[in-house]
Amino acid sequence: MQQFRSEHLLKCIHCGLCLQSCPTYVAEGSEADSPRGRIYLMRAVSEGRIRWEVGATEHIDRCLGCRACETACPSGVPYGYLLEIARAQVERSPARPAMQRVVKRLILNLMAQPRAFAFAIRTARLLSPLLGEGALPAPAARMLGVKGVVAQLPPVHSKRERLASVYPPQGERRGRVGLLTGCVASVLFHEVNVATIAVLQYNGFEVVIPRGQGCCGALHVHNGFPDEARRLALRLIECFERESVDAIVVNSAGCGSTMKEYHQLFACTPHEARARAFADRVRDVMEFLAEAGIRLPEHPLAGRAGEPGLVVTYHDACHLAHAQGVRRQPRDIIRSIPGVRLVELEEADMCCGSAGIYNLLQPEMASRLLQRKIERIRATGAEIVLTGNPGCLAWIAQGLRDLSQPVAIMHPVELLRSAYELHDRC
Ligand code: SF4
Ligand code: SF4
Repeated sequence: MQQFRSEHLLKCIHCGLCLQSCPTYVAEGSEADSPRGRIYLMRAVSEGRIRWEVGATEHIDRCLGCRACETACPSGVPYGYLLEIARAQVERSPARPAMQRVVKRLILNLMAQPRAFAFAIRTARLLSPLLGEGALPAPAARMLGVKGVVAQLPPVHSKRERLASVYPPQGERRGRVGLLTGCVASVLFHEVNVATIAVLQYNGFEVVIPRGQGCCGALHVHNGFPDEARRLALRLIECFERESVDAIVVNSAGCGSTMKEYHQLFACTPHEARARAFADRVRDVMEFLAEAGIRLPEHPLAGRAGEPGLVVTYHDACHLAHAQGVRRQPRDIIRSIPGVRLVELEEADMCCGSAGIYNLLQPEMASRLLQRKIERIRATGAEIVLTGNPGCLAWIAQGLRDLSQPVAIMHPVELLRSAYELHDRC
């Protein structure tokens, strides 16, 4: 079992500069639910002063893994890495009841298999009207949509398998890239993949979709199952190694951040060098397009009747802003689209509560954070909120449903596709 390294834990100088950026500290006001408090707990476990099963686990469970504390920390505490170790230790300790571990594993394994996940969502949609409150244990009930989680997800796409293996560039060829289609994303956000391919082609890139790529392992490593994560990651690395590509493009923030850190996942294993070579080629799609330079759309996008343009706002997905440091690139691209006015969102980089499967496991805190996010989106007056992560897209969409003034949500690459007037190309 992986152990904490004291040089990482001792980097925390207890300054507290991270506290106000931590969503759970802001919501609870409790030191134990702050980054500093959690690091203190990790250190106490590491030094044998406490055990996970004595009151420490709930604070690790309540952490979103959003890594806003890393952005705020002047001392360079690698909080995300520490959290992964803490979660793996908790899952192997008596602190985690066996039934909880089984349910968690079941959810993660289901999400990592697109066909099984699509089948489960369709089945859950059929069953959810028949199931009443309390008919199932809470995690299973939430998963089956009794509280509306599943019923309100985007439609399941059956066209996933219809993506071709290769898409040619349009105009002058500028390079060849591989695309991660993702596990959850390929089922619920097929259109984002289609938009990504179309936008890359329009900008002169040949796009390869390696077969059999599956899940990147992000959900597993973020939730305390690094062995499964390594197994999934290795399959993905092998898939992309078979293709000669200049970059591996990702449109999901959570996947991208994990893939950029594969060398850490495989540290001290025979695959570390391979993992690093792979990680070095990973780019978020907005980061990639900003680096390459995009073709500007020819026609402006129109807004609501009576508006001079299309007003949009942007929510920073945590694993894009805090884990990958990608903030400027999506904004620059959005601002460059003719007719579009970007209104900054207050607390744009505060977690919306989605956080992988956090909204299933910690629904109360997740809902509080969602409400906070929705209030701030409403205050911008935007017609569209843009964000670069499937979990945020699905979760924020649920919160937007009840607004009297409709607000749409989409990935920035979908807005770009609309601006290019590219439709039904895949
Ligand atoms: S990862 Fe997010 S929720 Fe967890 S301690 Fe850091 S800021 Fe707080
Ligand atoms: S900002 Fe960094 S050093 Fe300061 S308390 Fe938070 S984690 Fe520790």
